[in-house]
Amino acid sequence: MPADRSPKAPLLQVDDLHVEFRTPHGVVQAVNGLSYTLHSGQTLALLGESGSGKSVAAQAVMGLLPTPPAHITRGQIRLHGSDLLQLSEPDHRKVRGSRIAMVFQDALSALNPVLTVGDQISEMFRVHRGTDRREARKKSVDLMDRVKIPGAAQRLDDYPHQFSGGMRQRVMIAMALALEPEVVIADEPTTALDVTVQAQIMRLLRELQQETGMGLVLITHDLGVVASVADRITVMYAGRAVEEAETPELYGNAGHPYTRGLLDSIPRLDRLDHALLPIPGSPPDMARLPPGCSFHPRCPRAAPLCTQQLPDLLPVAGAHGHRSACHFSQEVRHGT
Ligand code: SF4
Repeated sequence: MPADRSPKAPLLQVDDLHVEFRTPHGVVQAVNGLSYTLHSGQTLALLGESGSGKSVAAQAVMGLLPTPPAHITRGQIRLHGSDLLQLSEPDHRKVRGSRIAMVFQDALSALNPVLTVGDQISEMFRVHRGTDRREARKKSVDLMDRVKIPGAAQRLDDYPHQFSGGMRQRVMIAMALALEPEVVIADEPTTALDVTVQAQIMRLLRELQQETGMGLVLITHDLGVVASVADRITVMYAGRAVEEAETPELYGNAGHPYTRGLLDSIPRLDRLDHALLPIPGSPPDMARLPPGCSFHPRCPRAAPLCTQQLPDLLPVAGAHGHRSACHFSQEVRHGT
């Protein structure tokens, strides 16, 4: 199918993605029917606790899942309409880095400790674009400037351990942007950083996105991080999308008890009088999901129906683009 590059055409479409891990202890259904659409210049947050499937879904888009044990059993991942899952590994490798790039959460382990930062950024240009060494170093300095690393030219020959956590994350972002990808997937890009540096990195990603028009998929467990950057949020639980909406709608009218639980567990400036309430219990064992709605053992609204029937992700009445997978979304949304 020819690529559709009209401005209104979706940039990235994940459709009914299923990923399972076949282990000696059984099959783990890590992603179960995830769908989302990303447009140029848009930020989509995939939000959920650890084990919810958000990082596995990102690795599937990047073509980085280890097979075996991971197997994509169903679904499509279309970039400008072309299904990446139909690509051979060499062709997927060409897409990786140049058209879709990833910022990993732990820059210290993602960067090579024995190569200077300049060498690592330059390598992107040299390997993928055949740029000569001198020009690649010059482009690396420009990129380091762009991600606001002070004294970029002087820091080119420093090693990763000589940078602070926040500066290392900027190096990772520089590497991700080197080949001007259309989509950047940032997997918990600020988890290891303190709150002030977190805010700086998120602001930087937002600025770079506005400058380049790239689509950004932001993977996080922290609703507080996404409030000011995400246009849309997909909340994941136990491998499924349980709620999705534009960010203000999700913050104002969450229809799923899990999303409500996440909102109640973060400090919010508009609710300083509310006590913070953590969600009771832990995420389920993915190899032994409870029947019906996977959230029912932790849900304050659970009813007998919830233990028997899996709720579909359905539109929430009166809210464009808002969908929720709860048998009682309408009642929860209206606070009954
Ligand atoms: Fe809770 Fe039932 Fe809704 Fe699941 S379907 S979130 S258990 S009320």
